[in-house]
Order: sequence, then C-alpha cells, then structure tokens
Amino acid sequence: MTGTTGRPTAYERLTVAPWPVPAGRHHQEPPWAGHPALGEVSGRLSTAPPLVSVDEVGRLRDELAAVARGDALVLQAGDCAENLEECGPEQAAARVTVLDALGDHLERSSGRRVVRIGRLAGQFAKPRSQPTERVGGRELPVFRGHMVNSAEPTAEARRPDPWRMLRAYEAAGTVLDAVRKRRGDRDTGPWASHEALVLDYELPLVRGGPEAVGPLLTSTHLPWVGERTRQPGSRHVTLLASVANPVACKIGPTATPDEVLLLSRLLDPGRTPGRLTLIVRMGRAVVAEALPPLVAAVRRAGHPVVWLCDPMHGNTVRAVGGRKTRYLPDLIAEAAAFRAVLEQQGQHAGGVHLETAADDVSECVGGPVGSPDALARRYTTLCDPRLNPEQARRFLNTWA
Ligand code: PEP
Ligand code: MN
Repeated sequence: MTGTTGRPTAYERLTVAPWPVPAGRHHQEPPWAGHPALGEVSGRLSTAPPLVSVDEVGRLRDELAAVARGDALVLQAGDCAENLEECGPEQAAARVTVLDALGDHLERSSGRRVVRIGRLAGQFAKPRSQPTERVGGRELPVFRGHMVNSAEPTAEARRPDPWRMLRAYEAAGTVLDAVRKRRGDRDTGPWASHEALVLDYELPLVRGGPEAVGPLLTSTHLPWVGERTRQPGSRHVTLLASVANPVACKIGPTATPDEVLLLSRLLDPGRTPGRLTLIVRMGRAVVAEALPPLVAAVRRAGHPVVWLCDPMHGNTVRAVGGRKTRYLPDLIAEAAAFRAVLEQQGQHAGGVHLETAADDVSECVGGPVGSPDALARRYTTLCDPRLNPEQARRFLNTWA
C-alpha cells in the first residue's frame, strides 16, 4: 500500500501463478523464444518493485464506475507506440501535461468531469498483421515496439532483444512518476494504460495483493487487450480476467454479440461498475450497423461497462506515397455514429480513445494539416498516425 504520490511499496511476490493462463505461444508474441536472456530478464522483472499500487487502481476503478453511471467522461489518449528515447522526466511531464490539458478542454466543453487516461508508461509493444515487411527491396522483421526491437530498417535493429523489457520497465517507472506528480491531490488525475501484449513482460509483474483484492497487474493502472488478441480464452484475455485492475478490451468490426457477451462474462463476472471498459474501433462506415446488436446484448446481460469510441483504428488509410494517415472528418463521423447508437439504447457514451502526440506533428489530415501533401512536414510516429494537440481539440469540440 502507499500514499497517492509516492511510489508503490512491495507486494507479495507471486512465485506460482494463481490462475491458469493457458501455456503456449501466441502469434503476436515476439520471436525470441529460447533467447538465453529471457530467464534472467523474467527473474529480474518478477522481483522488481510494482509500478502501481492497489490504492491507485482502486481509485481509478471508482472513477470509471462514475463514468459507467453516466456521471463523467473518459479521455484516453497518447502515442500509438511510446518512444523509449522520449521517457526522460521532462519529456514524460510534457506528455502528461498535454493529456491533462486535453482533459481540461473536454471538461470545459462538455460540462462533465473527465477521467484522463494516458496511453503511456508501458505502451511499448505493438501487435502486427505480418511478421516481416519489405523495406527498400529487403525483407525485414517488423518493428514490434521498443519493448521488443528498434524501428530503424536494418536487420540488426529489428532483432528482438529481451533486455529491452527492462529498459521499458525503467522508463515506465519514470513516466509513472510524472503521472503521479501531475495528479497530486486532485479528485481526478491522469492514469496510465497500455495494451498488455508481451506476456513475458506482463506475467512477472502480476503480484499478490491484499486478500480481499486478489492478484494485481502492477505494470499499469488499466491494461487493455487488443483487437488481435481478444479471443475469449486467449492467454491475454485470461490474464486480464485474473487480475483486480479495471480492464479494457478493443471491439472491432467483426465482433459478434456472442463473442462480446462471452468477453463481458469473462472480464466482468461480478457485473461490477468500473471493472470493464469496451473500446469500440469499427470504422465510420461500419459502426452504425455493427454496434447496435453488441450494445443491446451487453445491456440485456446487465454488464455496467464503460463504452468508449476509438475512432482511429478503423479509419486508417494510405496517402499517396504510402504514409499511413487518418482524416479528421472520418474520426468525427465515427464518433457521432457511436454516440447515436448508445443514445438510442439509453446508454451513456463514456468517452473517447485517441492516438495523440504531444508535439505539433503532421500525421493525420484535418485542421492545421490541410491536405495529404502537408503530411511530410513533421511525420515522426513510430507506428500509427496521431492527432496533434490542435487536431485533438477540434475533435473533442465535436464530441461536446
Ligand atoms: C492500438 O491501439 O494501437 C491498436 C493496435 O489497436 P487495435 O488493437 O484496436 O487494432
Ligand atoms: Mn495504433
């Protein structure tokens, strides 16, 4: 246990996992099985101090419960892939400050309290649709996030290195310090979240909490399971089902009502407000048709989930020249359709999940980035295209 500003103190170290996360490999796991350093890295992570505390996680769950009741909104935002080179104390503070400012902006325009959750302090791993890519005529392993390898297009940089997990852990600690500092004693402060993807990193950071709480994933406040690993019964879903944190799950265009019901039952067996957040990422053309049966099923089953709209991941296109981009009007259209579906069923549209940069990047088209020609000015993302702060404000204006 801990105060709200200091780093968490020790938890009981779990030597035996108290739940049956299915064994075996997953198609999104880094191709480093058998690497001689894995055992040592895992051992170090399993004795490293927890990054978050039971108290913090409980506070966030209470805040999310208020969102589930319709009394507040969520703004979840940050990089698609965090950069290990941008995790120093000042850089971390700058990123948290931008998140908080966007939260203030939404709070002013919506008139509701806004729970601010960063994609930060652990957003270092990316699921990929292909294991390799062609760069300049050469076939290279894909970039999988700074927890795994480096983005530069050389064979050496792309080699997966388990030692990177320790660097990610250290960086996450520094970023979480910035999150705590910013939160101070305010009612609603920033929190950390990331996709729990690399189980070699996440599993050693599960610790035994107080008996009444149960095991805690101490790598972050709010872990989520992504669109590519959210199969009911997957190792990733089982991990999230086994920990006391509030948890989230992406819901893409192919999700069926049965699947979402099963996920809700696994991840929120107690029908606990604040426990489960569903992040809908369908695409502007699909959401109006695909979302209503899912909302109806979850509502009838009585799961008090938080519904968030991720308008980014279903609206990615390639601009001329091959850069990935997203058009602000598409994002706004998906969000409007999302809200209409929720409102039609008397449910609270709980907020948004965005990919944003703290700097004035030019990765998405809209507002200050007038056309795809302007993308080249400052396109620095390690993975997906992010909104710059002005674009994010414009998006949030339309939400309110
Ligand atoms: C992401 O959030 O960066 C991501 C990969 O999303 P999804 O799992 O929804 O595709
Ligand atoms: Mn992304």
